Amino acid sequence: MISACALVVLAGCSSDAPSAASWHASGSGSAQGLAGQGGGDPIAHPIAAPGSVTPSAAASASASPSASASASTSASASPSASASPSTPGDSIIRTTGDQTVALTFDDGPGPDTPTILKMLRDQGIKATFCVIGQNVKQYPQYVQQIVADGHTLCNHTWNHDEALGKKSADTIRADLQKTSDEIHKAVPDAKVLYFRHPGGNFTPLAVQIAAELGMKSLGWSVDPWDWNVKKWQGQQMTNHICSVVRNNTKPGSIVLSHDGGGDRSATMAAYKTLLPELKGKFTLVAMPV
Ligand SMILES: [Zn+2]
Repeated sequence: MISACALVVLAGCSSDAPSAASWHASGSGSAQGLAGQGGGDPIAHPIAAPGSVTPSAAASASASPSASASASTSASASPSASASPSTPGDSIIRTTGDQTVALTFDDGPGPDTPTILKMLRDQGIKATFCVIGQNVKQYPQYVQQIVADGHTLCNHTWNHDEALGKKSADTIRADLQKTSDEIHKAVPDAKVLYFRHPGGNFTPLAVQIAAELGMKSLGWSVDPWDWNVKKWQGQQMTNHICSVVRNNTKPGSIVLSHDGGGDRSATMAAYKTLLPELKGKFTLVAMPV
């Protein structure tokens, strides 16, 4: 019932999975699409074991100091220290926590964002956009459209510094604040309740500071590596994205893809086919705000 997608400018991928194995045979390796594997950005990055924590657990990290059970640490110079995770993986959201599936799009807004927004709008699907501050500054109107369409916003740092989490607390805080401020210039009342570290390189400090700024750290569980245009191009990339998303998405999945950061024609072609497919199988949701 989705074969018609192949007729559009965005060629899409074949509408069923039997040939998926051959796509993997094209050198894709075994990492793509597996929960907890690196990816999402050009620099490989270890991600903590997929011992996912529910959004509510992450939220506890952003609770006010008075909410902390460990009153004995009240003298601590850092009010949130008692709530900070022992490892960053402890408080990174990697599943929706229920039967729903969340699509997330990173590194925009960019020239392809309006097309992806239209595709989502046409299908009545809500998603989550992890935006880069300097892109927000360049394309504030796209951020406004993201919000107007009912999608969720996520802070993806000012300029995609994949090493940000290893820098000083002041540097991390200033970067995240600047990014959120830019979002609020575009949409004054926008809720920015999520943070995704570039490359997935979450550190305990970055997670903690994001929590102090009211943001939960948002990971993912399905990653088709659509950013890796050196490895796959054109139809091969489109097929790869379709294969990974089809074969790995299940209830609770958070799927990572990109609306910015380069030519996203393969991503758009893939989702032209995938959106109606996924909608038929799952309840697709924006991360809650
Ligand atoms: Zn990114």
